[in-house]
Amino acid sequence: DVHAVRGEGVRMYDAAGTAYLDFTAGIGVLNTGHCHPRVVQAIKDQADQLLFGQINCVVPAKTVELTEKLAEIMPAGIDRFYFANGGAEATEAAVKLAKAATGRQNTIVFQGSFHGRTHLAMAMTTSKTVYRTGYHPLPAGIAVAPFPHAFHFGWDEDTTVDFCIKQFELLLKSRSAPEETAAIVIEPVLGEGGYVPAPARFLRYLRDVCDRYGICLVLDEVQSGFGRTGRMFAFEHAGVRPDIVIMAKGLGSGLPISAIAASAALMDAWRPGTHGGTYGGGAVISAAAACATLDVLRDEHLPERAAHMGAYLQAGLRALQARHSEIGDVRGLGLMTATEFVDEAGEPSMAIAKSVQKACIANRLLLLTCSSFNNVIRWIPPLVVEESDIDEALGVFEAALCASGPVVN
Ligand code: PLP
Repeated sequence: DVHAVRGEGVRMYDAAGTAYLDFTAGIGVLNTGHCHPRVVQAIKDQADQLLFGQINCVVPAKTVELTEKLAEIMPAGIDRFYFANGGAEATEAAVKLAKAATGRQNTIVFQGSFHGRTHLAMAMTTSKTVYRTGYHPLPAGIAVAPFPHAFHFGWDEDTTVDFCIKQFELLLKSRSAPEETAAIVIEPVLGEGGYVPAPARFLRYLRDVCDRYGICLVLDEVQSGFGRTGRMFAFEHAGVRPDIVIMAKGLGSGLPISAIAASAALMDAWRPGTHGGTYGGGAVISAAAACATLDVLRDEHLPERAAHMGAYLQAGLRALQARHSEIGDVRGLGLMTATEFVDEAGEPSMAIAKSVQKACIANRLLLLTCSSFNNVIRWIPPLVVEESDIDEALGVFEAALCASGPVVN
């Protein structure tokens, strides 16, 4: 019910001038904060020059500049880009590219994943039934493997990874043979599904599988990208090289833009005209916002800042966890951090999560929930957040925990 009219840094304001501390960052869009002056200026400057340059008709200079800037932050050799407007569109593009490049049909995704709401992306999404109910039959050729979510299974990380590897091998024997699998698509940090970092050993295992069988490893960095996890991309933590990267959200600081990145060898497999759209790459206003965003991320060292602030936030949340047994787990990478709520029996508690969220919003701290059980609060402030903002948020959060009291599910 917050009717926002203005934003600045980590705060949003309603028409009455009431300030809200925004720890949602537009679900990972506003990594540079609300209305970063350099991003706003870049949009204004571009608006004076050229609003749109359709990419089949002309070569828009701003889009070329953006490809050059993106190539600088990608692993060497991943320097070809396809631009679109949102995450689901980019997901569709990534899978189509993998199919074109391999001549295979199937895609493997992971339990709890969220890749968007178009038909193929819906079929690839298993974070909640609400995203699929009423839309079946969905596109075929999608197999779902377990995601290594240790807290959910109640195991330690090694046991969880061993189990998930075993299940993955079984899936390759029973559901989607390697020679019919075009892509393995994974979020390096599961987003909507509960803010769960994929252990490095598991991501490396998937890389090995892809190398063994010529499958494309597609990393969905839509929510985890652009400094959010303390590195420019979350896959850097595991040192895993992707074949295709899906990016959106944090790229445009609020203007709609998404992209996939891949090597020239992969992109060359796409015959001209086989994929495209009117706006992708031609919306130079979005490209200008993206260029400025990348400059700000670099110049203000925002990935490093996310690592520091994430550690600070997690230390604060762990201290609260020690006093509040309803916080079953604190986890995350950088400023992609989660608190998972459980009831007295240790079962997922949506009731507590929702009640705490509601109390926080009433006290002008904006937080979002996630996970299949809706029992996780995600902590995802703009990366320009200060320690004092985190202290303020933790104070509101603890008051909400106390006010929510013992809640029966
Ligand atoms: N992939 C991930 C990991 C996401 O978090 C999202 C959106 O939340 C998407 C894809 C879909 O992006 P969009 O909503 O822009 O279509």
